[in-house]
Amino acid sequence: MSSPFVGIIVPGISLIDEGADRVMDYLRSTIGVTTIFLPAYSHSSVIAGRLTPNPSEPWRDHGMPEPMELKGGAFFDPHTEFYRNTFIHDFRAPDPEYRGVDVMALAADAARPRGIDVVPYFLDALGHGRRDPTPPGFPHTLEVDALGRLSDGPCLTNPAYGEWVFSLVEDLMKSYPAAGLLWGMERHGPLGQVIDGGAPVCFCDHCCRAARDAGLDPVAARADFEAAWRYVEAVRVGELRPTDGYFIGFLRELLRHPQALVWEKFWLTRYHGFLRRLYGLVKHIDHRLRFGILVWHNANIWPLLRAQWDYAEIREFCDYLLPLVTHNTGGVSVVRHLESLAATAFKDVRAPDLLAGFYRIMGYDEGPWDGLPARGFGPEYTRREIRRVVDGAGGRVPVYAGVGIDLPTPPGIRKTAPEDVEAHIRAAHAAGASGFAFRRSYAEMWTKNLEAAGRTLRVLGVIE
Ligand SMILES: [Zn+2]
Repeated sequence: MSSPFVGIIVPGISLIDEGADRVMDYLRSTIGVTTIFLPAYSHSSVIAGRLTPNPSEPWRDHGMPEPMELKGGAFFDPHTEFYRNTFIHDFRAPDPEYRGVDVMALAADAARPRGIDVVPYFLDALGHGRRDPTPPGFPHTLEVDALGRLSDGPCLTNPAYGEWVFSLVEDLMKSYPAAGLLWGMERHGPLGQVIDGGAPVCFCDHCCRAARDAGLDPVAARADFEAAWRYVEAVRVGELRPTDGYFIGFLRELLRHPQALVWEKFWLTRYHGFLRRLYGLVKHIDHRLRFGILVWHNANIWPLLRAQWDYAEIREFCDYLLPLVTHNTGGVSVVRHLESLAATAFKDVRAPDLLAGFYRIMGYDEGPWDGLPARGFGPEYTRREIRRVVDGAGGRVPVYAGVGIDLPTPPGIRKTAPEDVEAHIRAAHAAGASGFAFRRSYAEMWTKNLEAAGRTLRVLGVIE
């Protein structure tokens, strides 16, 4: 490979605790790192905090073994001139561990002499009921569900959210020597929310206005989605037994309420539209900056999401794709999704009986239902999944395999071993990945597994 790409997500707290120079030297010598993905804004302790291990696990063999209750926010010093169009201003992370440190500047200073790129990473997963201490005024950006309630997450159509995000991105791209932006968006559309037990979104004034502009009828769509949600809820709690069975009943409900599907498509258009605008913004600032899209792990697991992640389309508005392949929690994710389907639309079938069909439809073969969470997913899953994205990208944009290392799991669920790291890197390489991006966070990785990653990349000739 002529220009290897080796990235890793490193939270600012690791640079602070372990020393930015030391971390960069270690990652350069161990895995030949070329790009540090740095969470620049987050309220998630997984993304930007120290790893506090499960009670069954020891502390990792690097970093500071001190619990940390992350409040989060921006881990850099926002430059006020970029935020004149937004009413969200007070969002610097208040955490004492991050006080007085601008992690973008810290990372850039350490990376520059080593020839390493720094790319801020933003995961759009704010809200979602985790009591995120989001900034003052943030509730004005929230979605509205079909029952008229404010929901957890910000609405992509709401200009208050868009303007704030655009301000953040402009600030990061112009104020620091960033090499681009990595954007992750972990959202289900309204139909997926219904199937998974949530109330569908978004019916805020901004979305309803945008729908009318697009020639749609938001009142009818909301009524249809509310009816679909009430049907699914009645099935879930056992109040309803459709005469023709649950799946036929579900299809009948969609036929009775066709605006629900129209609204699902409308949601997808806005989701992609947000990414298209971000891509254009980054290119406007400097056409050499690279805009990467992180592909949510659930897009590998949920058939509806997979149908919506059409890489032949998404490649139009990104410079690379970074699909997440998570071997040790893959089994848990599949079991959870099939149990959700078997509680609603597919209630005629037991979840374990859905598995064989699911494997055939999704192209997986990860063994029997019993023990699936404990086993996790094997390297063949990674090979097929990366191959699928590579084929979808069609050579127009490179695909960097987002190999998960050491995602913490409860007792009985697979942990990452060095052999796993080697096998999954080899599988992604065989599938045509143009590079690698190790995740979820350097803070949760064991050095033995990072060393296994480095050894494998050397054997494959990816790095010297
Ligand atoms: Zn909305």
